Amino acid sequence: MSVLIIADHNQVALNPAVYSLVTAAQKIGGDIDVFIAAQDGSKVLEEASSIKGIRRVLLTEAPYFAEELPENMSASVLEVSSEYSHILFIANPSGKAAAPRVAAKLDVAQISEVTDVVDGKTFKHPIYAGSVIETVRTLDEKVVLTVRATAFDPAEKGETSVQIERVVPISPVIKVTFVRKEQVKNDRPDLQSAKIVLAGGRGLVDEAEFAEMGRLADKLGAAVGTTRAVVDAGIAPNDWQIGQTGKIIAPNLYIGFGISGAIQHIAGIKDAKVIVAVNKDPEAPIFEVADYGLVADAMATVRELEQKL
Ligand code: FAD
Repeated sequence: MSVLIIADHNQVALNPAVYSLVTAAQKIGGDIDVFIAAQDGSKVLEEASSIKGIRRVLLTEAPYFAEELPENMSASVLEVSSEYSHILFIANPSGKAAAPRVAAKLDVAQISEVTDVVDGKTFKHPIYAGSVIETVRTLDEKVVLTVRATAFDPAEKGETSVQIERVVPISPVIKVTFVRKEQVKNDRPDLQSAKIVLAGGRGLVDEAEFAEMGRLADKLGAAVGTTRAVVDAGIAPNDWQIGQTGKIIAPNLYIGFGISGAIQHIAGIKDAKVIVAVNKDPEAPIFEVADYGLVADAMATVRELEQKL
């Protein structure tokens, strides 16, 4: 068996999820290669070469890889796919855009959001917003997966003897053109890689209260998240949303203030190591999954914590 991991990166650094995919690949077994498609891959190539457990890094460079079009990514992956039994993408927006294109062209059934590897053909993944874990066995010869990185520990960096292979870039796919990318600036840690996440739900009533929770987050070096109800109300931006239709997070510590614990929200936090819930309703469902629960007013708790810190 040989596994190809499709690296996600920002041209400067790898998405930390790549390290977790190496661990997932190790559970599958066989040789592990990493594929990097970049405008200028020198920095990410160096980083990938230091991950323990990798046999080879394949690098293809072209100016159009600055644009992150899944059409170009999937066509490039298909060029090198023939020698691999498994192709792994991160279950993030880029991976979810490219993986189905690769699976369709290879005429195989993609397995999505893998959270555990039973063996090279058998995988576990959540369905019904995480309320059921399904075990699926593929009959396809080639296996295309999107992998939920938060479910696997990151592989280590260190001394390696990784081989480097340069791949001739494909002719760019011309059916699609890149128009523009708008990136949200955020001084706080990234929600999906933060060690601590503070999330506010409808128990916080307006932007001013979220700003107060933000100040507490800054004292803790934490990222800030929320529920879909708050996003729909226009109080917090979309990219703060945690859950089934938002971001899946796995911090060491998650504190939810005024969040009821709907199944769609819990789907995004259940990999958190410690879950703390503050809610004025002792019957709130979030207390069923919380390690620590405090029946209290959300903002009073935020203020008291900030003062104590
Ligand atoms: P509520 O459910 O209204 O809960 C507010 C909580 O705050 C209550 O428990 C209340 O007791 C408590 N509270 C009120 N005032 C205070 C106070 N002063 N102090 C302390 N506690 C207080 N939701 C997500 O979060 N993420 C998703 O990805 C997501 N995807 C969805 C996908 C689908 C298809 C659907 C149908 C729904 C989805 N939802 C998602 C919405 C989800 O079902 C819930 O509606 C939402 O999570 C509720 O948000 P909430 O906890 O902020 O609000």
